Amino acid sequence: MNRLLPPPTTVKAPRERFTGDVWLDMLATPQDGDQRTTVGRVRFAPGARTAWHSHARGQFLHVVAGVALMGGRNGEVLRAQAGETMYCPPGEEHWHGAAPEAFMEHLAISEGADEASESTVWLEHVTEESYRGSDGP
Ligand code: MN
Repeated sequence: MNRLLPPPTTVKAPRERFTGDVWLDMLATPQDGDQRTTVGRVRFAPGARTAWHSHARGQFLHVVAGVALMGGRNGEVLRAQAGETMYCPPGEEHWHGAAPEAFMEHLAISEGADEASESTVWLEHVTEESYRGSDGP
């Protein structure tokens, strides 16, 4: 049946997986049957970012406000403005977060793995050097 979902509770992202202050609202999670899609609204303080990680089925990041950075193991740091969408392929190690000077909000859209615990693999924190990569801020 069509229904209104309860409003999400804003939670602080865990220190083990993020640098700086980050808040998460789960806007959409599987409700029925074999659904896998999740949509999270993630708000980053200036300079805050995820740790390195990968997604079993990839991820879309739609920037709602501010300037988003997304880094890869090749040292490149992408910059995206509000209204733009970044994509990360399945299994590719990366990080994302706010530029140093302003808050950033993005929608993180992904599909879970068959085994939910394998949807995202978390790795080490992002160093200042990686954050300020060759093409970065
Ligand atoms: Mn990601």
